Amino acid sequence: MSNKTRVILADAEGIARAAQILRDGGLVAVPTETVYGLAARADSADAVAKIYAAKGRPSFNPLIVHVRDLEQARRFADFSNVAKDLAARHWPGPLTLVLPRCEDAPLAPAVSAGLPTIALRAPDHPVMRALLAQLDFPLAAPSANLSGFISPTTPAHVLASLDGRIDLVLDGGACSAGVESTIVAVRDGGRLEELRPGPVALFDPANTPPSGSKTGSIEAPGQLASHYAPGKPVRLNVIKAEPDEFMIGFGAVAGDCNLSETGSLKEAAARLYTCLHEAAVAAQTSIAVAPIPDTAEGRAINDRLRRAAA
Ligand code: AMP
Ligand code: MG
Repeated sequence: MSNKTRVILADAEGIARAAQILRDGGLVAVPTETVYGLAARADSADAVAKIYAAKGRPSFNPLIVHVRDLEQARRFADFSNVAKDLAARHWPGPLTLVLPRCEDAPLAPAVSAGLPTIALRAPDHPVMRALLAQLDFPLAAPSANLSGFISPTTPAHVLASLDGRIDLVLDGGACSAGVESTIVAVRDGGRLEELRPGPVALFDPANTPPSGSKTGSIEAPGQLASHYAPGKPVRLNVIKAEPDEFMIGFGAVAGDCNLSETGSLKEAAARLYTCLHEAAVAAQTSIAVAPIPDTAEGRAINDRLRRAAA
């Protein structure tokens, strides 16, 4: 692999080229509606091993397997009625289901890191969908960044940490949702457990303990206390920044950049990682962030900010 990773436009030609690299067992960063994913064929142990190596991802942290639809997903997991119903209502979309893995699932064992479960999602982005439609295997795709650092929502963010470590970036512009998918485990008997809050708000914030409060659980390492780290101290719920702080504003609380001047939580989610990337490379030695309302829509943002600050 050369020093420089190529970035090509995600038009029909670009998508066909990416599909060929993936068939050959390579790594391609692909836009999804949440963040850019680092895709490899999920049925190849060698290809999946390359994802862990490129990201420096610990081997105990399983990957999400991206599928076209429920029909393809049923080859890999046992779908209870509750799971089928969730998929019918939210796919394609930013909801990942953690389900019992079929014993004979034709997938590399490393995608689920030895767990008896598998995480599945049918993404809703035209580029990722076009790619999946051309391939006869699903794609393992964690976020396209070095493990533990800020997630990518643009091709430039991907190159910031993976340039020279992957084969190709498909440029589909900025991601619309901007935070990673909601992850829900469907347990025996249909009980739901939220492993990571995200764009799909299935749970009432009043009734849900903050995810990640279960220290020591490695079932969804996105739950670990420190993640999405910009490499500088981060202070939350700040109204006025100190002189050496890069201020990330929200609404009327101004800053060096603003998540959403109009106070839109949707826009704030979409801009979160762009602001964190800006803050990471700014001259200031630390980062301050304005308060974000902890409503159903604000929860995923606050979850990521808490881990960036940990
Ligand atoms: P990323 O794609 O980088 O956002 O990471 C994928 C997330 O999905 C991580 O937090 C994983 O721990 C989680 N995940 C993947 N597979 C499983 C699984 N079988 N059980 C629980 N969590 C999972
Ligand atoms: Mg990630």
